[in-house]
Amino acid sequence: MNISDSERIAQKLDELGYKSAPEKEADLVIVNACSVRQTAIDRIWGRIRKWQNNNKKVFITGCVLKADRDKFAKKNIHTFNIQELPKLQQILKEHSNILLNNRISSKDVKSYLGYFDVKPKLDSQIAYIPIMTGCDNFCSYCAVPYTRGREVSRPIEDIISEIRDILDKGFKNIMLLGQNVNSYKYGFSKLLKKVDELPNDFQFTFMSSNPHDMTDEIIQTFSELKKWPRELHLAMQSGDDEVLKKMNRKYTSAKFLKLVSDLKSQIPDIKLTTDIIVGFPGETKKQFENTVKICQKIKFEKAYVSKYSPRAGTVSAKLKDNVPKMEKKRRWLILDQLINN
Ligand code: SF4
Repeated sequence: MNISDSERIAQKLDELGYKSAPEKEADLVIVNACSVRQTAIDRIWGRIRKWQNNNKKVFITGCVLKADRDKFAKKNIHTFNIQELPKLQQILKEHSNILLNNRISSKDVKSYLGYFDVKPKLDSQIAYIPIMTGCDNFCSYCAVPYTRGREVSRPIEDIISEIRDILDKGFKNIMLLGQNVNSYKYGFSKLLKKVDELPNDFQFTFMSSNPHDMTDEIIQTFSELKKWPRELHLAMQSGDDEVLKKMNRKYTSAKFLKLVSDLKSQIPDIKLTTDIIVGFPGETKKQFENTVKICQKIKFEKAYVSKYSPRAGTVSAKLKDNVPKMEKKRRWLILDQLINN
């Protein structure tokens, strides 16, 4: 999603007459930040000091929590919301601090639709197409509902028209993006079928699918797609029911296993990848072992394993981050070796 946003920022700057420059020579730096982990935000600070010493104008956008926005503002760094991109010229002109409320409401639908109108500057092999943005799920560890706001879906016709343009430019790989594509408001199955029916020679994938709102209809549609390479990213996060509950993931390990079995029976050659968090507050060794066991059963192709770190303002940040660093590392290594080796 960040790559996709950055491509749109680059295109907007092109339209405004800016030219891209090596970091040393640039007068203007726009950081498209990610708050998924604290370390990502921490790393920006060192860079900012360097840029400010070299008299560069620095702006920040992307997923930034209010606490971080406030800190940036104190250092005279301008922060703007990604859906304000259509107004970038005005923002750059004003150079004022635009601080945001902690949560973006559904009233922002209109401005987000304007954001989707900014076309990307395509540099990568894959064309990233946002189909929706934001999330209503409020998993207890996650900053997305606070930084990107609530779910906003883009109309099917808009998406198809952007894909048509991109295919005309010769792209062969498309990725449909959304924090939670299964809950795409205008029907995820319908959208998948429309994309699959486009006549060009290409393939497409999508991410992320939340296990809790995967339906039989969507699975049936997957099995009928011709241009989807049968790769599905399905974030499990934990294989222990108590931890899943604390994470507010709205499914149990048994439900997740049933979902995997349904997917494998309808699409036998499916390749599953996943996300797992180790060392969630209070996760015991036994609970971690439950995650290991379920991974042994499922045999994911790949897992993005992360060591839990609290994000200020989220529900789990109020829980004691009591799994020691070394233990988190140990659990991380076990899963990484089990799945990714
Ligand atoms: S579904 Fe994904 S984006 Fe939404 S709150 Fe949960 S982890 Fe965050």
